[in-house]
Amino acid sequence: MFNKRIKVKELLLSDKTNYEATVMGWVRTFRNNQFIALNDGSTNNNIQVVAELGKFDDAILKRITTGACIKATGEIIASLGKGQKVELKATSIEILGDSDAEKFPLQPKKHSLEFLREIAHMRFRTNTFGAVFRVRHTLAFAVHKFFHDRGFVYMHTPIITASDAEGAGEMFRVTTLPLDGTAPKLEDGSINFKEDFFGRSTNLTVSGQLEGELAAMAFSDIYTFGPTFRAENSNTTRHLAEFWMIEPEVAFNDLEDNMNLAEDFIKFIIRFAIDNNKEDLEFLAQRLEEEEKQKPQAERSEMGLMEKLLFVVNNDFERLTYTEAIDILKESNHNKKKKFQYIVDKWGVDLQSEHERYLVEKHFKKPVILTNYPKEIKAFYMRQNDDGKTVAAMDILAPGIGEIVGGSQREERQDKLLERMKEIHIPAEELDWYLDTRRFGACPHAGFGLGFERLVQFVTGMTNIRDVIPFPRYPKSASF
Ligand code: ATP
Ligand code: MN
Repeated sequence: MFNKRIKVKELLLSDKTNYEATVMGWVRTFRNNQFIALNDGSTNNNIQVVAELGKFDDAILKRITTGACIKATGEIIASLGKGQKVELKATSIEILGDSDAEKFPLQPKKHSLEFLREIAHMRFRTNTFGAVFRVRHTLAFAVHKFFHDRGFVYMHTPIITASDAEGAGEMFRVTTLPLDGTAPKLEDGSINFKEDFFGRSTNLTVSGQLEGELAAMAFSDIYTFGPTFRAENSNTTRHLAEFWMIEPEVAFNDLEDNMNLAEDFIKFIIRFAIDNNKEDLEFLAQRLEEEEKQKPQAERSEMGLMEKLLFVVNNDFERLTYTEAIDILKESNHNKKKKFQYIVDKWGVDLQSEHERYLVEKHFKKPVILTNYPKEIKAFYMRQNDDGKTVAAMDILAPGIGEIVGGSQREERQDKLLERMKEIHIPAEELDWYLDTRRFGACPHAGFGLGFERLVQFVTGMTNIRDVIPFPRYPKSASF
């Protein structure tokens, strides 16, 4: 067997010495023609491989360059250098893959995140992205663990859908019709989608919720965790065109149960990352602290990353209604001094990200759950409250990110649902299958959608969402 290596993480964990070991990995640096810092992605820490002077051919030494992949065998000994307990004194070094030092884009120095985004195919090999994507993995694992432990069924909802009903965002069309003008047309000149692959017009999903509701009406508790697509032209640090969403849907839950589930879920996930990725999080905390130092004092956050995560885990989220939030915003000095781009002057307006951030970062200084929004600014399936004006919606707002969760109790009453659909011109025929849940054994139920990347942003402290997904898709960018 070729691969009899020990992972670097495992080696560094133990202070055992005087045994033979093989390591494989990529060279980070090679100092004094003697000391190789080798990394295999299991941790940000490198194992020092010592190539004693005079023991290796010049031809081999020349090929130990930054980025090269090597296999080294030798004795694990106590390290004399500082920063590591053990090192490997090499008896053999094999070059598995050369790397032209002149052309290798990652130099052993600090690169900007913008530059690294342009070489996203290589950025996994940096400390920052090593830490980010190991944490992302842990968070994804924790998502499944949380729901599995509570008896939820993981449901794979379709990626290609035909429903345009939810109106969650602009959609990407899926078609096999030609784009050169020869596609079959109807008499009125529009495209005849009956001739298309699926016999109708289709697109990439913007949410798995409607299908999720169908499953919840059989399994009681389900969740989805999959890619979603929105062709919204928003060049922000919080929007991607392709992102991963987690959508639990639970029969017999009301709005309060829904909030409790979401809060427990977020706390569990963060706690899991702290317990399982401490080293990476501490690295990211350090990185963030340095980034913060570049900012003017007033813009720096009051808490470090670890402090912030522990604070979220250990404190209740603030819960208030949309109406209460509007009052706070209206009365705020920020509003009176016209520091908001969008002035809050009346009940009914949609909250902008600047308002959400004010509530979370300035007013409450903790995550906030806003409930009971005006029905006009929320989706048709949200349960109508008795006041006739609001719906049983809830959004969770997180410091530095804004909206991280959007959810609601669903309208289970068929007449109310149909009435609302009619009001906003959603043809009932198109959603006939969805309406069956209200015809046959309807029950109170609730659910929410959490954008996975926004959660990863929150936990890693990365400011741009493009830096927490391996290969980001956003307007004018789909490289790699
Ligand atoms: P926003 O107002 O921030 O655009 P939204 O109201 O469009 O969010 P929902 O339709 O409720 O969001 O989607 C549920 C969750 O999915 C959001 O709370 C957010 O975490 C995430 N999300 C929505 N749009 C995007 C996007 N373009 N990129 C990444 N995550 C997103
Ligand atoms: Mn949006």
